[in-house]
Amino acid sequence: MNVNLELTDHCNIRCRMCSQSLRDEAHGAPMRFMDFATWQNGLAGLEGLPDVHLCPHWLGEPTLHPEFEAFVEYAFAINRDNRIFKRFKLHTNAVILPVARARLLLRLASQPDVEPGTFEAVHFSIDAWSPATYAFVKGADHGERVFRNVERFIQLRGEVPFPVVHVTLVVQEGNLHEVRDFVDHWSRVFRSVNRSFRVTADWPPFDQDAIYLRRLNAGDQARSDAWHARACVDVGIPPLARASGSF
Ligand code: SF4
Repeated sequence: MNVNLELTDHCNIRCRMCSQSLRDEAHGAPMRFMDFATWQNGLAGLEGLPDVHLCPHWLGEPTLHPEFEAFVEYAFAINRDNRIFKRFKLHTNAVILPVARARLLLRLASQPDVEPGTFEAVHFSIDAWSPATYAFVKGADHGERVFRNVERFIQLRGEVPFPVVHVTLVVQEGNLHEVRDFVDHWSRVFRSVNRSFRVTADWPPFDQDAIYLRRLNAGDQARSDAWHARACVDVGIPPLARASGSF
C-alpha cells in the first residue's frame, strides 16, 4: 500500500502548473512542518502492515523540512528487516540538494539490513532544460542550481542500482519548445554513468531510470493533450492513450 506522510505543505518555488503555488493554505489550515513525534508515531503505526510503500510527501517540498535529514535517518534506522516499510520514494524539486544530503540519501539506500531496492526511487521535478524556461515555469531562478544538483546526485550514485532516478518534465506551453533538449540532455547524463533508462509518456516503473514527459491535467484538457502528443512525437515515443498524472 502507498503511504504518504507529508513532512510539510510548504514549497520553496511556485510552479505554474501546481495549485500549491496558487494558495496560502494547502489543507484548509496554515502551512506547517511535521513535528518529530508525529513522524515517530506515524511510522510506528505502519509496523505490521503489508507491503508499505512510503513517501514523505504529498503536497509541498519534503526537503524543505528543517530536520529532513533527521527524519529520513530515523525512518531507515528503525526499518531493519523492512519491518516498517518495504519501499521508500522521494519526490523533490532538488532546489536544496547539497552534496552532504545527496551522500546521506545514497548511504541510506545502501543500508545492509533491508531488502535491496528498499530506497526505490528519487523523482526529480525539473520541467525545463534552460535556466530561462525554468524560471518561467517554476517561478524561481534556480535552474542552474537544480540541474547541477540532479546531475551530481546521478554521478555520485554511479552504477549502484538503487534508487532509480526519474527526471520529469510536465509538458506545457512554456516548455514545449525545449522538450527535445531536455530529453537529449538527461539522456547524455544517464549515458555518462552507464545507466540504462527509458523515455516515457506515462508514470515510469521503478526498475530503471527514466525521463518522464508528464501530461498536464488542466481545464482545457484537449489543449494539454495536444501539447503532450506533440512532445511525444518530437522525441519519438508513443503518446498516451489514457489520462494519467495529477497536475
Ligand atoms: S515543486 Fe512541487 S509542490 Fe512545489 S510548486 Fe512545484 S510542483 Fe508544486
